[in-house]
Amino acid sequence: SDKLEAQGRSLWTSGAGNGQTFAGAAATGTHGSMIARGGIQDHIRALQIVTPSGIRWIEPDTGVMSDAFIAATGSTALRDDNMFAAAQLPVGSLGIVTALVVDSVPKFLVRPIQNLRKVDRAALDWLAAGDFRRFSAAYALDQDPDFVQMIVNPYKPFKRPAMLRFLYREPWRDDYPRATPGQLGAGYDALSLLGRLLNDYPWARGPLLQFAMKQGYASGPDIDAPPVYGSWGEGLDTHRPLADLFNASVTIDRADLARAFERICAVYARHGGSTVVTIRFMERAQGLLAPARFTHNAVIDFDGPRSQRTADAYARVVECLDAEGITFTRHWAKSCRLDAARVAADYGEDFRRWRTARDRLLPDPAHRALFGSEVLDGLGLTC
Ligand SMILES: Cc1cc2nc3c(=O)[nH]c(=O)nc-3n(C[C@H](O)[C@H](O)[C@H](O)COP(=O)(O)OP(=O)(O)OC[C@H]3O[C@@H](n4cnc5c(N)ncnc54)[C@H](O)[C@@H]3O)c2cc1C
Repeated sequence: SDKLEAQGRSLWTSGAGNGQTFAGAAATGTHGSMIARGGIQDHIRALQIVTPSGIRWIEPDTGVMSDAFIAATGSTALRDDNMFAAAQLPVGSLGIVTALVVDSVPKFLVRPIQNLRKVDRAALDWLAAGDFRRFSAAYALDQDPDFVQMIVNPYKPFKRPAMLRFLYREPWRDDYPRATPGQLGAGYDALSLLGRLLNDYPWARGPLLQFAMKQGYASGPDIDAPPVYGSWGEGLDTHRPLADLFNASVTIDRADLARAFERICAVYARHGGSTVVTIRFMERAQGLLAPARFTHNAVIDFDGPRSQRTADAYARVVECLDAEGITFTRHWAKSCRLDAARVAADYGEDFRRWRTARDRLLPDPAHRALFGSEVLDGLGLTC
């Protein structure tokens, strides 16, 4: 963001915090909650990837860079839609990405609104239907939001106030008053301090989570405060986790949100899940292995202090969704409890196409093994 914004450009989406590498974030389909956008990998237009067999420059069929440019990079051009879609989200399994051509938009301002509000059950139906304007009008500004995020306490999610964050996009102007990430409401690290308390006092989990939500989040800026603005990059604090974190998520078809969400919270809380539960929204993302594979997606995150009980509670959520017949995928960079059979079932034909591209790029099993690990081998990505 710093580099792009210095040139008057901006990413149109990214994760909720800064600090990752572009290649690593794209490799795992990192995303935030820009409701009309996909994942960070959607910015990629071409990439250079190094394997033991050579240096390849991968682009879609139509081509992006000139032959002379590609030759000057020392790479061999590989213009192929399927290969490009595989390499946009490689999960670290296709070689070393050494260069990326990244698209961008003119830089813009966002006005954040952040508040704690009790959310009505009916509002989930508006979100499931994509009526973000109605949700915004009820809990923040009567304007079309560009970003909507809701963080709830899974213990009584509709009785306790949720932490809401909205971003409203405005045209860039140079004279906006500069604000710190804190004033822009970025980050919610106070939650990561909770681990020991939640483990030691299980009976107090619900109220403790709510206390932390209030301490870590309530400072606004709410609708009645003077407006503050920042660029996309300024609104993303660089994440410096204060505790050992558990991260997991499920991505569902947004249309399933209303029927899935309360069940997810109930199962998670009943089994002692000790993190907040976040709902984010995004459109279908690019890349054959993009977890956001529904036309409209709701991503439900379980991010907070690491504990075995929380990991077990997440496993019960996965079982519950399966039992209810609710289709979902999981984030490649989180505790996904996946295996090769499940990956093949979740991604179907796209997984077959991804493996075809991989075998073309890395035909020698010994070369594939170079990029393998226990996790990636277990997911069927490197063997
Ligand atoms: C505290 C925290 C908050 C997070 N918030 C979000 C969020 O808001 N939204 C979200 O979607 N995700 C989020 N994540 C997940 C995070 O975005 C991913 O873990 C991301 O992959 C991290 O990027 P990294 O650069 O650290 O990559 P790494 O973890 O280093 O690598 C990720 C994968 O990419 C591969 N890789 C990295 N660099 C290259 C390269 N040059 N060539 C080939 N392969 C490569 C690695 O081998 C690995 O398989 C969060 C994670 C944490 C810990």
